[in-house]
Amino acid sequence: MNRVAEIVEYHLTREKIIYRINEGEDLFIVRSIRSKNESYMVIRENDKWSCDCHSFKYHSGTNELGQCKHILSIIFLLQEGVEILLA
Ligand SMILES: [Zn+2]
Repeated sequence: MNRVAEIVEYHLTREKIIYRINEGEDLFIVRSIRSKNESYMVIRENDKWSCDCHSFKYHSGTNELGQCKHILSIIFLLQEGVEILLA
């Protein structure tokens, strides 16, 4: 299973790990599955996504648009119409 699918499945079937910070704003928190004290901040501004994780910063394990697994998980949930709850 790829890492995006793993995050999405975990969020949907085990425990909520993705939250929206403010109503009406595309600012999200994604908690790490493996280290419970870690979390990442994902934001969309003017249709440009960014994340504060290591992978996004150094373009390792990102897709051709430079999007990391945290960004892709959120995009997937939004496309599927899954409501992301407020933190
Ligand atoms: Zn990330």
